[in-house]
Amino acid sequence: MRRIPRSRHVRAAITALVTTGLVSLLAIGSFKPILPALLFVLAIAAASAVGGIPYGLLAGALSFVSLMFLWEEERNEIGFTAAEEGVTALVFAVTALGVGALLERERRARKVAVGAQASSEAAAAASVRLQRAAEALAFAVTPAEVLDAVLTQGVRAAEARAGLIAVLTEDGKELVILAQRGYPTDQLSGWARFPLEVDYPLSYAVRTGEPVFVGSESERVERFPALPSIAQPTHALVCLPLVVEGRTIGGLTFSFAQDEVFDEDRRRLKIALARQAAQALERARAYEALEASESRVSLLAEASRILSTSLDYETTLSQLASISVPGLADWCTVDVLDAQGGIRRVAVAHEDPAKVEWGRDMQRRFPPDPEAPTGTAAVIRTGEPEFLPEIPQEFLDQATARDPALAEVVEELDLSSWICVPLKSHDRILGALSLVGTGERVFTLADFELATAVADRAGVAVSNALLFREAERRGDAARALTYVGDGVVLLDSTGAVRYWNRAAELIFDRASPDVMGRPASQVVPGWELVVQHVEPAEASSDELARSTTVPITAAGRERWLSATAVDFGDGCVYALRDITEAHALEQARSEFVATASHELRTPLAAVYGAVRTLRRRDVQIGGDDRELFLEMIESETERLSTIVGQILVAGQIESDSLRLNETTCTLPELAESVIAAARIRAPESIELELDAPETMPTVRCDEDKLRQVLVNLVENAIKYSPDGGEVKVALSAADGQARIDVEDRGLGIPAADQTRIFEKFARLDPALTRGVGGTGLGLYIARELVERMGGEIHLESSVGRCSTFTVELPVES
Ligand code: ADP
Repeated sequence: MRRIPRSRHVRAAITALVTTGLVSLLAIGSFKPILPALLFVLAIAAASAVGGIPYGLLAGALSFVSLMFLWEEERNEIGFTAAEEGVTALVFAVTALGVGALLERERRARKVAVGAQASSEAAAAASVRLQRAAEALAFAVTPAEVLDAVLTQGVRAAEARAGLIAVLTEDGKELVILAQRGYPTDQLSGWARFPLEVDYPLSYAVRTGEPVFVGSESERVERFPALPSIAQPTHALVCLPLVVEGRTIGGLTFSFAQDEVFDEDRRRLKIALARQAAQALERARAYEALEASESRVSLLAEASRILSTSLDYETTLSQLASISVPGLADWCTVDVLDAQGGIRRVAVAHEDPAKVEWGRDMQRRFPPDPEAPTGTAAVIRTGEPEFLPEIPQEFLDQATARDPALAEVVEELDLSSWICVPLKSHDRILGALSLVGTGERVFTLADFELATAVADRAGVAVSNALLFREAERRGDAARALTYVGDGVVLLDSTGAVRYWNRAAELIFDRASPDVMGRPASQVVPGWELVVQHVEPAEASSDELARSTTVPITAAGRERWLSATAVDFGDGCVYALRDITEAHALEQARSEFVATASHELRTPLAAVYGAVRTLRRRDVQIGGDDRELFLEMIESETERLSTIVGQILVAGQIESDSLRLNETTCTLPELAESVIAAARIRAPESIELELDAPETMPTVRCDEDKLRQVLVNLVENAIKYSPDGGEVKVALSAADGQARIDVEDRGLGIPAADQTRIFEKFARLDPALTRGVGGTGLGLYIARELVERMGGEIHLESSVGRCSTFTVELPVES
């Protein structure tokens, strides 16, 4: 039965007593008995109206008693029959019951109406709150903003003190707290993530999809004993699953500042909020994912752009590392394998330049162990990437086991997440790209995939750069081989030509295309000689290959080659230097030694013989003979001194220490004195003649040296005219040049030798078959002297008939 307020009982009791009492008082007067009866009805109705049926019945009973005793007995005016008494009692009872029931119904109806109005107002208020929360959620683009919206707007009315949003991990096994508001910092430490399986209120809500409403700490302890108690007292708690399209994506927790009773409305409100929050969170996550994927795409595009800008891969890798921080990682490093197989760090990047310096310093202090079981060195060694969203302590322990100082540094770094992917080209590992997250950062699978994509591009870029360098190196090597002065010939293991450079073409007079692929012995006559005499060195040996000199006939000419060979297993490479000229010079030099010894010995023997004869006491030598011997001694000594002089001048020319003493020289005088001296020694068959014009310009020259030249030319003319004949010195001048021709009618010089005879030690008859001696230095010295005096020497000759040597010198201006 409905409870009636106490005041109403009092009012109803008073009404019942007073109204019936008043009507009873009328009995003192002289009213018709029907009137009090009617008035009693009214009193009963009033009592019933105020207090309901019981008070109506009370009033009815009082009225009946009053009517029966006061009105009937004391005044004795009404004589009720028993039936009338019964009817009166019935009327009173019906009045009490009817009016009471009627008014009760009316009161109830009013109450229901008031209640309906209140609940409709409450619903409107809840809907407004929900509306506000929905609006706030509509603007939330990050999970933290979603939580803010839920806490500030949606739950303000619910008086939640703190809240958090957790999401399910990809494998659905754990809950990770995305954002929280209002909890003291230490309260959530160690709660970044927790398994879904354990019996905590939030994991229960997420696991079962059922909201959890806990009114007080004691209720929580009872329902979720597994949840460890925290130091502070806790109160009401609500954990709601976040469900989007039938899929639970996480959970929402509200903590309250006091114990609460969650009626149906409040529960509904919170569930509705959770639904909206779930949608907002999903949208925020989709937005985040979209943003992340956009930034990934743009990072990848930027990485590709950087890698294609230059072939200097160290610079591009450095730039690549720079753009990876801090967007993708806190630290980014790139290591490459160097030519010796060592690991070289080419890039270190961090947002803070001071840390970059520090990072480099650390690398120097703690160089990577190439045999390390994990980390960059392991990735480079095995080619297998490493991806640790959360770095386990064992991983760090293993990496720092060898050095406690390193362990300290790593501890300080607060490493949280790790990605290391190899830089590859085809099957070759060129290095590794490492990304390090610190503090809160946890790399996702998408980060790993991005790192892999970037590393793939970097691998191609490094490989291209290396190929380019190799191509350049090979290009240089090819150029060096092509243009080197020595012939380079590469033969494969069958002896076929695989490479034939320009110098080889010139030496053997065979173009490369003609010889490629053909056996060397076929294309170079006498190649066997090279193979026979040249001992190939082993490519692996540290010693230089020894050169051997071999003669080869090529293009109809005999050539002397200095050859070295190196066997590299699949074939042999020959380096061939044409030393024909040097060989000829060497030969000439040794011939010179023989000739010069002979040339020196002949006059010495003559002088020695003459001196010994003169000193003989047993033989009487007459005055004329003595004179003859002395003349011979004089001329042979002169000859000796000429030879020695020639050798000395040649030495001076070679060492470039020859000094000229230039004066004005009158050629006719000089020529005259040379001819005069020659006449004394010349055989009778020789006719010496000077042909000089009346006037002849002077020349500026070293007179002694020019005399030496003329003496040599005239002596040669006499020497190489064994049958005698005219030897003429003719002087002339034209076009600023003074000209001296020395003509003879002697042996002549073949055209092929006309250049050669001016070379050092060159003699046409080194074997002295004609018995004419000489050093082969005279014409060489003559040419050198004339050229140093600014003139020229040349020759015209016809074999067996004549020779004319011409000296031209500029006239003195
Ligand atoms: P040499 O001491 O042998 O004479 P030269 O340098 O003066 O040395 O001459 C070089 C060679 O040139 C000689 O050995 C000789 O064969 C040749 N020659 C020089 N002058 C004449 C000439 N007038 N007629 C023919 N042959 C000559």
